[in-house]
Parts: sequence; C-alpha cells; structure tokens
Amino acid sequence: MKASPRPASGLLRLRIKPTAETQLRRGHPWLFAASIREQNRDGDLGELAAIYDRRDRFLALGLFDPESELRVRVLARGSPIPITQSWWRERLQEALRRREGLFDAATTGFRCIHGESDGWPGLVLDRYGQTLVLKLYTAAWGPRLSDILPLILEAVPSSRLVLRLSRNSLPTFRTAFKLEDAQVLSGDPPAQPPIFLESGLRFEADVLRGQKTGFFLDQRENRRRVEELSAGRDVLNVFSYTGGFSLYAARGGASSVMELDISEHALAGARRNFELNGALRPIADCQRSQIRADAFEWLHDAGGGRQFGLIVVDPPSLAKRASEKPSALAAYARLVDGALRRLRPGGYLVAASCSAHVSRGEFFETVQRVAGRGGAPFQMLQTTGHPPDHPAGFVEAEYLKCIYLRMAS
Ligand code: SAH
Repeated sequence: MKASPRPASGLLRLRIKPTAETQLRRGHPWLFAASIREQNRDGDLGELAAIYDRRDRFLALGLFDPESELRVRVLARGSPIPITQSWWRERLQEALRRREGLFDAATTGFRCIHGESDGWPGLVLDRYGQTLVLKLYTAAWGPRLSDILPLILEAVPSSRLVLRLSRNSLPTFRTAFKLEDAQVLSGDPPAQPPIFLESGLRFEADVLRGQKTGFFLDQRENRRRVEELSAGRDVLNVFSYTGGFSLYAARGGASSVMELDISEHALAGARRNFELNGALRPIADCQRSQIRADAFEWLHDAGGGRQFGLIVVDPPSLAKRASEKPSALAAYARLVDGALRRLRPGGYLVAASCSAHVSRGEFFETVQRVAGRGGAPFQMLQTTGHPPDHPAGFVEAEYLKCIYLRMAS
C-alpha cells in the first residue's frame, strides 16, 4: 500500500456552481466534475478536497478522485475539521451504533457500513460470521486504507478481512496501490466459502467471487415476509441465485419450492444452501426442484403450464444507466405479465427491483398496471424499501423496492 500522497501545495480548494452548492447544502454527498468552477491546483487521487461556495464560504470536505466524473465524495460538511484517526474511529462507531440491537445471534451476516448513507462514501463493509468483506467503489480510498483498516479490525470482531474492488476502481487499485480484487488483507484465505446465519438459516457467502460482497443481504426482510406467506403453497423463486427466498419459503411450510435461474453456478450454490439446512424439519419435508432457464422465456413460453401459489421475481438490476430506464420498465412489465400467467387464483406475487434508475413510484405503478390489465381483481398488500442496515440517505441511493400483490381467488 502506498503512503498518503502529500498535497503539492496546501489544501486542494474547489469552488463550485450554484446548483451544486444547493445540492451539497441539502446534504447530497456527491460533487461532479462538471460542477467545479475553480480549482487551485491539480488534485491527487484520494486527497482531501475542500469545497467552497461562490462567496468563499466553506461547504464540505471530501475524497478527491481525478479519474471519475464523480469528482468528490463528501466526508464532512459545515465547518472545516481535521480528518484524524479519532475522527475515523468516531465515524465507524456511529455506523456500528446504528445497527445495535438490530440482529440477535441468529443473524451473523449483515451490513456494518453502507457507503454514503453511513458517511463512508463508496465504501461498504459486510460481515459474514467471522469474515469481513470490505468493498470499495472508488480508488480514492486507496491512500486511506492503512488508516482505516486497523480501526475496522479493532472495532468489528473477525478473523479475516477480504477486499473486494468494483470493476471501475480495479485498474487504478492495481497500478497505484498493488491491490487486487478478492485479496485477503487480514487472516487466512478461506478454504471454503464462509458460512453465516440469517434468521437462523445457514448460508454460504461467496466472498471471493460472488456478486456485491458475496450475498444479497439487502433482501433479508423480504425473505422473512415470504416465509410468513408461504405455508401450504407451491412457491416459484425466479432469479433464485443463492436460494435465499426458497429456504425461507421452505421453512415457512411451502409444499414445494422451484428455483429458476439461468446460471448453473447459482443453482449449485442454492443446492448447497439447502443441504446446509437439511436438518430443519419443514425444509427437509419441502419438495424441491430447479430449472435452468431464461426467466423471460420460461415464464411466457417454455413452462408447460405449471402454476404456483406464490411467485418471487427478484431480477438483477435491469437499468445500469439512466438511459436504460424505459427498457428496464418494459422488462419488468414482461416479467410480471409472465409471472401472473403462472399464478393460481388467490396467489401472491412478490416483485422486487434493485435498479436505482427506476424509482419506487415507476416500479410499483408498472407492476400494478400489468396486474390490472389481466382483468382479475387483485389486492396490493404492501410495499417495502431498504432494510435498516442498508439505509438510503439520498435519492440515488434508493435502489431497492418490493411490492406484494394478492390475486383474487
Ligand atoms: N433473488 C436473489 C438475487 C438475484 S441475483 C437473492 O435473493 O439473492 C440475479 C440472479 O439472476 C443471478 O443468479 C443470475 O444468474 C440470474 N439471472 C440473470 N439473468 C437471468 C435470466 N435472464 N433468467 C434467469 N436468471 C437470470
């Protein structure tokens, strides 16, 4: 790891455009390159930048990233304070305090730090039992790692810490800091994927290669809700991945659970997770099957008419950028339409979206519009958003939403 770069000549100072000023004052954590009016000098990757308004009043302090359009990620605002070890320690304690009391011993996998909304922009820390996964979305954290790692290891009990790097940040981490994705920064490399508990169920976390940090911790509350709705039902889990929804449904007394995913790797992972929980009676009793298929095709064409009493549709993000929003909404509509054709009268549809570019309103409206088109009455049971260990402090951070419908019997 490289030492912190020394500022070339004093603090890096930026003056910004009025619209960006308003945004920052409202608490928004990002400053884009196009909003910078003046800069006293070139900035180094990861150095602290001080942001001033047009009257030269201090606004905020943040991590500078000369390679990204998202040029500064705000760390502190209001008054200029030195960012010291004790400042970082306090900031970490704040995030940990926010999670106190949320989880008992039956849940050992959860998010400890959720990026911007916890005051750690572009940084995520997840815990899977004794394994911590630190995921960085900007190489601007590179020069700070030697400061924050000891603090994390001191504050969160663990035997290992794995570093995961976003695709965008990886090339710079490699060249500037000699760091790799999936590098183990503390403890031994895991011989097997670590196993953790979620609501008393055992899961493996693919911390070295899995998406995000190895498991979709953000769906915990929806999985719990699906458990409550599953008794006696035939459940279809579309985009099943690790089989999270399936296991909760099985424990909730589902008569059968069928998993659908396009990836054999995902289906194999779900089978292993079922085996890990085979000792639990309702899970052992539940009839299970899997199908490897494209969800869009199978729901509409290839499924041979099988019907279900509860269908979960939780696809990957369908809009990676804002311009893809219309096609994402069309894809959600197609999925919901397909799922409703396979839902028995009186069945539940649980539809989730993790596309940040699709708003809650747009998603819920789309699902209900498609449901209404079929002519059969339905009831909207509830909608859900972010779980408490994944707070969303600003609009771009709100990616997760889920809607529950019950079709008339
Ligand atoms: N519901 C999961 C998360 C879904 S992740 C959970 O609770 O953890 C997205 C999953 O969708 C991946 O496993 C991926 O293999 C699968 N997938 C992506 N495109 C697909 C498609 N067209 N049809 C079926 N599965 C697909």
